[in-house]
Amino acid sequence: MANNDYTTVTEAIVSQLQEICGAAHVVYKDEKVLQRYARDQVPQDQQARSPEVVVKPESAEQIAAIVQLANRERIPVTPRAAGSGLSGGAVPIFGGILLSVERMNRILEIDTANLMAVVEPGVITNRLDAALAEYGLFFAGYPMSEEFCFIGGNVAENAGGGRAIKYGVTGHYIHGLEVVTPTGDIVHLGGKRIKDVTGYDLVHLMVGSEGTLGIFTKIFVKLLPRPTSRTATLALFPDAESAISAIPDVMTSGRLIPTAIEYMDRFSFSSAAKDLKKDFPYDLLGAALLFEVDGNSADVVKAEAETIAGICANRGAVAQYVAGNEADIEEFWKIRKQIPWIIKRYSPQQSIEDIVVPIAQIPAIVALLQEIAEKYDTMIPVFGHAGDGNLHATPMKNPEHTLEHWEAMLPELKEELYRATAKLGGTISGEHGIGHKRRDFMRLVMSEAELDLLRKIKTALDPNNILNPGKIIPDAT
Ligand SMILES: Cc1cc2nc3c(=O)[nH]c(=O)nc-3n(C[C@H](O)[C@H](O)[C@H](O)COP(=O)(O)OP(=O)(O)OC[C@H]3O[C@@H](n4cnc5c(N)ncnc54)[C@H](O)[C@@H]3O)c2cc1C
Repeated sequence: MANNDYTTVTEAIVSQLQEICGAAHVVYKDEKVLQRYARDQVPQDQQARSPEVVVKPESAEQIAAIVQLANRERIPVTPRAAGSGLSGGAVPIFGGILLSVERMNRILEIDTANLMAVVEPGVITNRLDAALAEYGLFFAGYPMSEEFCFIGGNVAENAGGGRAIKYGVTGHYIHGLEVVTPTGDIVHLGGKRIKDVTGYDLVHLMVGSEGTLGIFTKIFVKLLPRPTSRTATLALFPDAESAISAIPDVMTSGRLIPTAIEYMDRFSFSSAAKDLKKDFPYDLLGAALLFEVDGNSADVVKAEAETIAGICANRGAVAQYVAGNEADIEEFWKIRKQIPWIIKRYSPQQSIEDIVVPIAQIPAIVALLQEIAEKYDTMIPVFGHAGDGNLHATPMKNPEHTLEHWEAMLPELKEELYRATAKLGGTISGEHGIGHKRRDFMRLVMSEAELDLLRKIKTALDPNNILNPGKIIPDAT
């Protein structure tokens, strides 16, 4: 049997799944509902596929029983959280069983004595943060999809986001996991301990494994004291170079690490801000930076925001705005958060990319992206987390081109974009993951020996290739 030859889900298998989860929590032959699980936020139809059956378990024991059945029958199992992913990770590309953790949505414990929370994977990220706020605590992971993504999806993608420059990415805060392995065992990795070097660091092998090495059923999240104050500075620059030159200056001469530094190019910022009916000197604008700072003294935080505004002015900013209150901060962030949606509205045919380069290379990659856009007669707006070099370059279909033309040229354009990124010391994904969207491009950034290490890990844990097959690792040549 070839590695990707799987058994079709039959009525007999569905009966067994119903016995495990309860009939009400198994969806079969209801095309309308099955289709809701056929895609994540990757728009291309070629990257979508309906599962044969959806199961919605409520415990690790139920998940273990499903995975054991899948191994016996050789049926692929694709874990799914909120489906907000941008790399096709939760798409069941071989059909089979789609395992949704949507019912596993309890915050099990907020342990203030140990500064740890224990949660199920289906908790919405923002809901966790809101619950922690009542205790003066917070979870520093902050993907921009926090209003709808689940913590389980964040751990599986090792999500980054706006606060990564100061606080790091999701994985920094994951100290323990309960996991159902690809062969159906329930294991407990790590826990509430801050230090633990007992054996290999399996917790962080699981973090970022995109549902291919295990299914998380409990997550131990390290908490921080919640800063009592924050504010933001929005600075508009004539071009990308002057904007990017302000970033290291803020940290060296400003002697501070902002919570967030977001970059928006002219098209991204203007389209989003105009859509929100904001008045800015658009004619002078080449690029914008949004900084956030936080801390426990309102005076210090305000002074830091003013320092940033001064540095931006010295670096040629044409306008700087320091938020006066919480509402202003939210208004600045609204512009940044509006960008992916406005690009999608402008052109439903687009490909949001997630390249990451050393920060000093941002002007170089922005210039190369412009050259690529001109070569392919299309637009590539750029926005993202400038503080850590993670840019969402987003090739868009030129409305004058046919769909066939766009579909034929996109892989070529992407390859050129990724090659340019790699040449500057960057790589193809900083936070959205590889999934199957970027799988075929892995050879541009990893050698065959490196890919072979990934294959060996996958085979050791998942000998039957049951768990989320077809993701991350390209087939051996
Ligand atoms: C508007 C918008 C803004 C975004 N901003 C950011 C951002 O700032 N930073 C960022 O990092 N991402 C961002 N994303 C991408 C996305 O929201 C993140 O990747 C998020 O972490 C995915 O979570 P999810 O719950 O939607 O997971 P899903 O998309 O459902 O799944 C993601 C992966 O996790 C696996 N998985 C799900 N549950 C489990 C589990 N219990 N155990 C093991 N594996 C599991 C799936 O198989 C899949 O491979 C954004 C997306 C959108 C649409």
